[in-house]
Amino acid sequence: MQEENNLRLTSESTENLIHDPWDREHLWHPYTSAINPLPTYKVDSASCVRIRLVDGTELIDGMSSWWAVIHGYNNPAVNAAITTQLEKMSHVMFGGLTHEPAIELGKRLLAIAPPSMHNIFYADSGSVATEVAMKMAVQAAVSRSGSHKKTNFATIRCGYHGDTWNAMSVCDPVTGMHGAFGSALPVRFFVPQPRSRFNGNWNPEDIAPLRSLFNEKADEIAGLILEPIVQGAGGMWFYHPQFLREARKLCDEFGIYLIFDEIATGFWRTGRCFAWEHAGVEPDIMCVGKGLTAGYMTMSAVLTTADVARTISEGEAGVMMHGPTFMGNPLACAAAIASLDLLASQPMAKVVDGISKGLESGLAHAREMTDRVADVRVLGSIGVVEMKQPVNVGRFQKECVRRGVWIRPFGRMVYIMPPYIINEDDLRTLTREMLNILKTEEWK
Ligand SMILES: *Cc1c(COP(=O)(O)O)cnc(C)c1O
Repeated sequence: MQEENNLRLTSESTENLIHDPWDREHLWHPYTSAINPLPTYKVDSASCVRIRLVDGTELIDGMSSWWAVIHGYNNPAVNAAITTQLEKMSHVMFGGLTHEPAIELGKRLLAIAPPSMHNIFYADSGSVATEVAMKMAVQAAVSRSGSHKKTNFATIRCGYHGDTWNAMSVCDPVTGMHGAFGSALPVRFFVPQPRSRFNGNWNPEDIAPLRSLFNEKADEIAGLILEPIVQGAGGMWFYHPQFLREARKLCDEFGIYLIFDEIATGFWRTGRCFAWEHAGVEPDIMCVGKGLTAGYMTMSAVLTTADVARTISEGEAGVMMHGPTFMGNPLACAAAIASLDLLASQPMAKVVDGISKGLESGLAHAREMTDRVADVRVLGSIGVVEMKQPVNVGRFQKECVRRGVWIRPFGRMVYIMPPYIINEDDLRTLTREMLNILKTEEWK
């Protein structure tokens, strides 16, 4: 009896160790209830592709901490770059001051960005980059057209562009997580999601709704905002590059700025440095974030053409109306430069192709699970199993932790996008355990 009690105590305290009760009571996690939250697992440390929980459990990371940790955790080169910068200065205001890390990062970004990009605005997160990009488009559109009516936005369904107010307004009203805000949000123009698959045939019908919208409403629309090729958190969908080529033509024809949100797709995730390269058409404004600092610090950037920058500067305000406190943070710049160095030092197309093949073979068997799986798709280092029914995240993650992997599904989407340094064995384990979990009875 005594022994049994001890055992129970031990397992209870282990339970409290991993699922911290104070955290549960007081800390809000992304998209969670304060009174009935999903469990969180307490992490002690992380290195390479392993996340280590406080009880010593090691998990192979399949998420890159939401697209960001592209070189794995605790990377020596990025660590060193930040430490060196820390000893010089961690921050100075960007108003009236500048510094080498900001300049150097800007040069590196322009070297890999679409050739027409010329001006850079540093911001503090992906959502803020979306806000800034939309403000740029409005300022430029009003300046160019002389019309204060040309201030709205068009976008496609199933998109995701962040959690701040304007970013929410261009997220899919249903799948984009912000339905609760309803009429509090500005009303945007939504056209259907392109259904032509990335590697499939192009169906010209896919672009027709955008043409009709522009025909009717072009004088109200400043910009068209899209995630090029890969729609992330709004549906994990990969669409045909021809859609972007057609959208570019329409934007030119109707005088509408084209904004590419490459916050998730940037820095080789799709097998190219940026996803626009799959289509070969350039945007007028582009957002990067997430992987920019290798997941070390929050930072984003909005890039635009000399033409947009000049049009804004010749407009009523005469300036770009934005300026965050932590703009151009030197530590974040240093991390980003180190990350871009790491990318430049490897044959990234080959690295991502290797992961792609591992995902293809590792997830192939899911295609046979037709009683529960609706679709399986892989692009670059992103592997998606679309289920027929929504997945219970809490139970799924409990199984993940039991099996030593870290995957966080949403809705019907179970997906992985591991750090680029993952080796074949770990990738095989990751995909195998993912399918093992999906195989069990309850996911039918
Ligand atoms: C994550 C994401 C954002 C928002 O970035 P935050 O850093 O979370 O604000 C915007 N757009 C896309 C495509 C994203 O994936």
